[in-house]
Amino acid sequence: MASGRTAFAGESQFAIPARHRLGWHFLDIALTRMRIRHPEIHRSDRTGWLRASVLGANDGIVSTAGLLVGVAASGVSAQALLATGVAGLVAGAISMAAGEYVSVSSQADTERADLTLEKRELAEDPHNELTELALIYERRGLTAALAHQVAEQLTAHDALAAHARDELGITDTFRARPVQAALASAGAFSVGALVPLLVAWAFAAQTTVAVVAATLIALLVSGALAAWAGGAPMLRGALRVVFWGALAMAITHAVGLLFNVRV
Ligand SMILES: [Zn+2]
Repeated sequence: MASGRTAFAGESQFAIPARHRLGWHFLDIALTRMRIRHPEIHRSDRTGWLRASVLGANDGIVSTAGLLVGVAASGVSAQALLATGVAGLVAGAISMAAGEYVSVSSQADTERADLTLEKRELAEDPHNELTELALIYERRGLTAALAHQVAEQLTAHDALAAHARDELGITDTFRARPVQAALASAGAFSVGALVPLLVAWAFAAQTTVAVVAATLIALLVSGALAAWAGGAPMLRGALRVVFWGALAMAITHAVGLLFNVRV
């Protein structure tokens, strides 16, 4: 994360004297603003969804590949193997959707309850709430006088928003959408699950080898993509994902061999 930003800052340090000489102060200010805002917002808002979808797809790839390799090792027919893979995709997608729906809903419930309580406290005891807010800013490093001034101005601007953000840590309350989160999660899982499933369908004669190869390549790509979206080193992220995928397939393969149905 830091490497990209340092390079950017280094570049503009060279550019500053020229800009001053030419009197391009507005450009300087605009560039500084962009530099401050861009990395943070870009990472957390724009690529947050990308990272979540790639991680969901990873789940789909790993669990479906493990299922296929394990069931293939047990020696079932190609048709039974595909039926198992499709059932695994559907069950996995629904499970992801349900998990995401429950998680986002309960998070939204908790935040709503917290905000209701906060709203009542603000109405019943505004003086205490102002002191509470000022103490929060003081603990973050402001002097007592400045903390009080900041608390007063933010209270005048939007008291509930200030308490929600700085006391409760709620920034995104009204954007929590359980149904949307559930659909996105199920969709990402399905896309990932389709990779080993389609490969198993296309290479019915060499299922295990084909699924293992395709899965490791897909995980290498998705692991690197997730790391990039999260601002982490790409190779390390990719290898981590590949390791867990390979482990899953090795274990399910061993389990499948125990249940070998071939005569
Ligand atoms: Zn409060």
